[in-house]
Amino acid sequence: MSIPSRLNSLRKQIPAHVTLIAVSKFHARNEMLEAYDAGQRVFGESRVQELVEKQSALPPDIDWHFIGTLQRNKVKYIAPFVQLIHSLDSERLMREIDKQAANNNRIISCLLQLHIAEEETKSGFSYDECHALLESQVWKRYPHVQLCGVMGMATFTDDARQVCKEFRALRAFFDDVKKKYFAEKPEFKEISMGMSGDFGIAIKEGSTMVRIGTSIFGER
Ligand SMILES: *Cc1c(COP(=O)(O)O)cnc(C)c1O
Repeated sequence: MSIPSRLNSLRKQIPAHVTLIAVSKFHARNEMLEAYDAGQRVFGESRVQELVEKQSALPPDIDWHFIGTLQRNKVKYIAPFVQLIHSLDSERLMREIDKQAANNNRIISCLLQLHIAEEETKSGFSYDECHALLESQVWKRYPHVQLCGVMGMATFTDDARQVCKEFRALRAFFDDVKKKYFAEKPEFKEISMGMSGDFGIAIKEGSTMVRIGTSIFGER
């Protein structure tokens, strides 16, 4: 199947209130342009250098999301243009994003990444760490960072019950912190969860953003 027809069939499965992020990491610009020409405007990348190169070569009306592990010393390269960082996972990173956003006269939207999977390897705050950060109010010292919600990656497994349980917990965490800390902040509204293998479950559990690569562009 072609990229446009894969995109169209995905769009039929994704309700209008859920943002489809086309995860284009490791895929060539011409493949991305096929998606662009089929109307896709939101793309996600997980490596800084690749994101910067693609951003300078592709049309200016693309919204670029950063979804991978972000090293502090590389924030400066994406700060001029990145639309949403999904992978905020420490206060030190928040401080650096704030600094680089200020240098660019911007406010950068970010999601708190939570470690929701069983695997040890996936990054993100634990629920306790994230609660502690929010409770401490230190994030209010970083006015160039706008917290817009949460992100999580479920365990890579065929066990739908496990995945469902993890997404449900993330949703419950979102609801809890929304009420406690962001009740007056309409922009705190995003739950980024769901990839090619599990976006159906994620949407049922309340996802507002799905990050999909393989089902659009094929295997990497
Ligand atoms: C690669 C990646 C995706 C997309 O995964 P697919 O299984 O190809 O849809 C989503 N989120 C993150 C954080 C990724 O690194």
